[in-house]
Amino acid sequence: MQATHEVKLDRIVKQLKQREGTAYLKLKKKTVSHMVPKPESKTYTDEKLDISDFDEILSIDQRNRICVAEPGVTFEKLVEATLKHDLIPAVVSELKTITIGGAVAGCSIESMSYKVGGFHDNCLEYEVVTAKGEVLNCTPDNENSLLFQMIHGTFGTLGIITKLTFKLLPAKPFVRVVYERFENLDDYKKAIWEHFENKDLDFMDGIIHSPDLFILSKGYLVDEAPYTHNYDWTRIYYTSTAERSEDYLTTPDYFFRYNKGVTNVHPKTRLLRFLFGRIMNANTTLRMATILRRFIPSKLIPVTVDTFIPFSKIEEFMDWYIKEIDHFPLWCVPYRIVHKYEWISEDFFDNVTDELFLDIAIYGMRIKNSEFYYKIIEDKLTEINAIKTLISTNLYSKNEFWNVWNKENYEIVKKRTDPDNIFRDLYDKTCLAARGLDEEQPKTNSGR
Ligand SMILES: Cc1cc2nc3c(=O)[nH]c(=O)nc-3n(C[C@H](O)[C@H](O)[C@H](O)COP(=O)(O)OP(=O)(O)OC[C@H]3O[C@@H](n4cnc5c(N)ncnc54)[C@H](O)[C@@H]3O)c2cc1C
Repeated sequence: MQATHEVKLDRIVKQLKQREGTAYLKLKKKTVSHMVPKPESKTYTDEKLDISDFDEILSIDQRNRICVAEPGVTFEKLVEATLKHDLIPAVVSELKTITIGGAVAGCSIESMSYKVGGFHDNCLEYEVVTAKGEVLNCTPDNENSLLFQMIHGTFGTLGIITKLTFKLLPAKPFVRVVYERFENLDDYKKAIWEHFENKDLDFMDGIIHSPDLFILSKGYLVDEAPYTHNYDWTRIYYTSTAERSEDYLTTPDYFFRYNKGVTNVHPKTRLLRFLFGRIMNANTTLRMATILRRFIPSKLIPVTVDTFIPFSKIEEFMDWYIKEIDHFPLWCVPYRIVHKYEWISEDFFDNVTDELFLDIAIYGMRIKNSEFYYKIIEDKLTEINAIKTLISTNLYSKNEFWNVWNKENYEIVKKRTDPDNIFRDLYDKTCLAARGLDEEQPKTNSGR
């Protein structure tokens, strides 16, 4: 019989309170980590705290459209449960086994973000356990409000999320998607801006197939569908956006239309998808890569990075991108900044007036010397007041990093929740230990 939430919580509180020493600690979950595998990472050998049984939905309040759940709940399980109440989460990350805890602690964006921001922006309360085993309830306006804001995007370095309370939205059983084609960025931007202003779509994302083929995917929740397609076997979703003018999917199939990979689909060939497509997807690929990481030279791991570009800077970025990198297709996800985020440095944010950003995601770029490309992307992003997710290779120097992320707020919370630094520091975990390093390396100019 599954232990209650309180019994499970008591267990890890005791473990943390009785723990001696300050060896690094990381979380053991049931599902694969959706961070890009890093063969050299030092964190793989950190001591593990098992929270794999924190994967239950505790309540769904249909009248107030609120869900309370544990962090290990996957988006697949959450969508299945909430749809029974004609409700859906405000944001659903596109891979079935991404968890809601990981979406808050890491990143979360998808085609509803143009209206509601990330999954974390629709959370109302977190239960967080500190390194010393203290249980803190955090809301946007209680005494733990800074921790509430800073827990997002800090990759488990400020505490363990053990329970989340978040909003749900009304649902319908199907999604109709209309694909609009554009041959230049200017017209593409105009169309995105118009829907952003009118908020007349349930979902908006797109695929940039090449420098002169831009697809805008406009999604509508609907009660009926003349037919439906799914993309969890032989079909590839992103290519269908250039081949079709319209499509219908069940709502769950729409949410997980990229479960085989957004633009980096596995298996690659139709025959292999026919043979193995039912069992292989982005999650199984990640699991295999994590298991086999010692045998995979890191330079063979394709470049995978989400870049968040202020809407007003997208021309400058794309001009540079086509000249310097020129890898297509790209995933384009409009993202509304719903809150002045405490985890971004004041100075960095002061130069940003845009309410709308575009996530331009590079997935599966196979290239020699990937570090060179990660670095020039980082430098360009900083130059135009843009940021990236920290899920893959990060080469920021400490100064460059804390010019973007908010060191002051981070240290205020860290002192409170993990004074002995057993969860590792954010810069150390995402930029050094992830590359097998203990300390910053002198800059090298490795060239292309
Ligand atoms: C191929 C690929 C595609 C992706 N596509 C998208 C996308 O489209 N949209 C998007 O939003 N994201 C995307 N991501 C990023 C992914 O959503 C984030 O990396 C997310 O954080 C992963 O969540 P997870 O549940 O797998 O958690 P994990 O990968 O296990 O954890 C992520 C981080 O959160 C911490 N963490 C996890 N659970 C907790 C907890 N309970 N308390 C405190 N800290 C915790 C971990 O320590 C870790 O540092 C993608 C990643 C990959 C590799």
